[in-house]
Amino acid sequence: MLNKDEFRKSAHEIVDWIANYYENIEQYPVKSQVKPKEIFNQLPDETPLVSESMEVIMNDFEKIIMPGVTHWQNPNFYAYFPANSSFPSILGEMLTSALALQCMKWETSPAAAELEEKVMIWLRKMIGLPENFCGVIQDSASTATLAAILTSREKASAFQINEHGFESDTIFRVYCSTETHSSVEKAVKIAGIGKKNLVKIPVDERFAMRTDLLEQAIEKDIQQGFKPVCVVAALGTTGSLAIDPLKDIAKITSKHSIWLHIDAAMAGSALVLPEWQWMINGIEFADSFVFNPHKWMFTNFDCSAYFLKDKQALLNTFQLVPEYLKTNVDDVVNNYSDWGVPLGRRFRALKLWFVLRNMGLDEIRNRIRNHINLAKELGTQIETSIDFELLLPVSLNLVCFRYVGNKTANEEKLNQLNEQLLQAINQTGKIYVTHTKLNGKYTIRMQIGQTNVTKQHVDAAWTLIKNVVQDI
Ligand code: PLP
Repeated sequence: MLNKDEFRKSAHEIVDWIANYYENIEQYPVKSQVKPKEIFNQLPDETPLVSESMEVIMNDFEKIIMPGVTHWQNPNFYAYFPANSSFPSILGEMLTSALALQCMKWETSPAAAELEEKVMIWLRKMIGLPENFCGVIQDSASTATLAAILTSREKASAFQINEHGFESDTIFRVYCSTETHSSVEKAVKIAGIGKKNLVKIPVDERFAMRTDLLEQAIEKDIQQGFKPVCVVAALGTTGSLAIDPLKDIAKITSKHSIWLHIDAAMAGSALVLPEWQWMINGIEFADSFVFNPHKWMFTNFDCSAYFLKDKQALLNTFQLVPEYLKTNVDDVVNNYSDWGVPLGRRFRALKLWFVLRNMGLDEIRNRIRNHINLAKELGTQIETSIDFELLLPVSLNLVCFRYVGNKTANEEKLNQLNEQLLQAINQTGKIYVTHTKLNGKYTIRMQIGQTNVTKQHVDAAWTLIKNVVQDI
């Protein structure tokens, strides 16, 4: 194994490798072009018995691993939602990795717990959540939503399900729109509430939840003896970045004392902009909120910011303190392993702190605002093009469109054509876009949120798409 001197030498080489990678990142195909099992089959079947040098390992990394990498940090990455990064974040991750802490309790690294407490206060203020929300970093929005649903279940059962399991005949119900992320369904399954008790409320023409139908569903359920425990509102659905009307939803949840959880996984970052604060009108009636700095706030995956009002309910749901984990400061500190599922925790606050300090709020705002403007401009170009159709008004940084050609093809043919177009675009390796279906229409979806994406990139991407259309 590497000794200290060899480590220093290899570490310097790897830092150089990283800097070169970012310098040349646009030369790699954005979407990996390998076929299934191509990487697997190049790797030996057995673990090496004796030590291999870093030189040999790095050679294989370049030769075998790199071709199988999809370059999420390439500015031409427009797929899914971003999982962006930045240099301060990478440096923070390097130190996290070097310190290699396990931050389960305050005592296992007081700096990790207290930095987390502080950066979550910064984040709360940055995105305009009320003062009575407190925050914890989770690994993912899925985990945060699971924490919210479990806590709502426990609160609704006076914390009895944790004690006895589901004993009573009362059936719990959770509500979200038909467009809400699948993590809600996963959480409902894990929480033992049952998939069939997740009520999916239809959406309006902009794919946002119909609150009249939410109200009807809840009232009907109450009449039939069900117990509504949680509504999940989406600020920025994955398919189309639809924004559920929070204030109207909050009126309903308040009236019936139902936990209101907000999934703002990507769109939450835009709350740093005063002009997007309207998305959280009604936040004072919500119980919990999640957004991912690892999506659109320049912080390496994983880093999910989960905020909630009733910290005690969360602790009552998750906290377990066996003898070997007791410390004599437990009453006065935050032991974040009590705030969620895993006991062991990474030092995630460090990279976030590096990002917030090295970028500063002004730069974070500028980049996010710039992404939104770039999306708007692309939307306008698509709208005025005769061959393409903008399928929705641009929301934040997401552009949803399709090719329509001379408009003579039927819907089925258009779907096939657009699927073909998407594959051809991605095969160029120059950009990476993904799709969804909106009202049965195959939709090309482009998010503009990569840290270093510029107008030149987006203009070039649009030209490329138009050229690929000519080729197919
Ligand atoms: N919610 C929304 C709206 C999302 O778009 C996603 C992922 O893209 C998630 C939740 C799940 O995020 P995570 O990967 O952090 O669990």
